[in-house]
Amino acid sequence: MKTYQVNQQGYYGPYGGAYVPEILHRCVEELQNSYVKVLESSAFQKEYGQLLRDYAGRPSPLYYARRLSEKYGCKIYLKREDLNHTGSHKINNTLGQILLAKHMGKTRIIAETGAGQHGVASATVCALMDMPCVVYMGKTDMERQRSNVEKMRLLGATVIPVTSGNMTLKDATNEAIRDWCCNPADTYYIIGSVVGPHPYPDMVARLQSIISGEIRQQLNEKTERPEPDYLIACVGGGSNAAGTLYHFLEKPNVKIILAEAGGFGISSGMSAATIHLGREGILHGAYTLVMQDEDGQITEPYSISAGLDYPGIGPVHAYLSHTKRAAFLSVNDEEALQAAYELTRLEGIIPALESAHALGCLNKVTFKPEDVVVVTISGRGDKDMETYIQAFNKQAKTPTVLS
Ligand SMILES: *Cc1c(COP(=O)(O)O)cnc(C)c1O
Repeated sequence: MKTYQVNQQGYYGPYGGAYVPEILHRCVEELQNSYVKVLESSAFQKEYGQLLRDYAGRPSPLYYARRLSEKYGCKIYLKREDLNHTGSHKINNTLGQILLAKHMGKTRIIAETGAGQHGVASATVCALMDMPCVVYMGKTDMERQRSNVEKMRLLGATVIPVTSGNMTLKDATNEAIRDWCCNPADTYYIIGSVVGPHPYPDMVARLQSIISGEIRQQLNEKTERPEPDYLIACVGGGSNAAGTLYHFLEKPNVKIILAEAGGFGISSGMSAATIHLGREGILHGAYTLVMQDEDGQITEPYSISAGLDYPGIGPVHAYLSHTKRAAFLSVNDEEALQAAYELTRLEGIIPALESAHALGCLNKVTFKPEDVVVVTISGRGDKDMETYIQAFNKQAKTPTVLS
């Protein structure tokens, strides 16, 4: 039987591995040798479990969305990661990694961030654990996600603007890796998604697997069957998706649909749909699909959503696409905006722009009335209010979205 788990060498099929500069080799090897032992230890499990429950507010609800279900003619359940402390699934990962960092005796934390959700979640756990925190963030992203920058600073983190490339997530990640190379002994790098060198993709997937563990149990309570017909999530690097799928990967009856950010459309030259547009290459320490030109130079990605604006993708997702275990749909800016308004008006839930891409898949699939569909709402829309208001005002002049 095919396995979708990482192998001993850190690969999912041909994808993954740990392509790091010599200076980080020992650091990464130390992590590879210790992460499973630590994560599976009873001391870690106890402390992590308590923090997830009492600090992050887990389990997050699995909500039956009645009006949305009526609209799409199936049974739609929303996994409410938007209700977690700090407003997204990112806290599941940062709580786990800060415990690991402490265990390894590290004294300084660095992180990269796109929309700022991972930066806020990192700054939050650093305040909690009294650790200094440096967050790298592209200047473009700092402008479009200002409230998260202010939160990070209030929490005591140093936010460093990155002005290379198109000043978004890829560029912030480059700078974080550069910092790590200069400070390998005392610094722990909290990566925010299932990207980077092995063991990060597997470690982050394990820490996010709390999502699918809860879905299984909650579905069983609500529908008397633990498995849905469909799982739907958005993919930036792929961590909320990996967490949503984790316990269902080896269940072939569970269909998996993942949403990439189409931007203005995959053939527009303004897109972040890596599965559709990428070719094999190395980005941020992993062999995976990468948006690149003929010379192997990274193509600048584009999405309205800062959290999905990334030219790579986690190696596990490259493999899920390669094996056709998951279907990847491209959802454009306009479709995501429309889906966000729809959820807001039908269910009274304002989703993050990233999560709106997952919702944008609903009208691209034909469901049967008895189908049970679980959509992960990876985060809440507070950080995206400026974008929503601008789009709303534009639509009000030429109404197509809201009718
Ligand atoms: C960061 C973020 C994403 C994208 O990251 P993944 O690793 O693909 O999950 C999606 N939704 C929200 C709300 C985010 O903050």
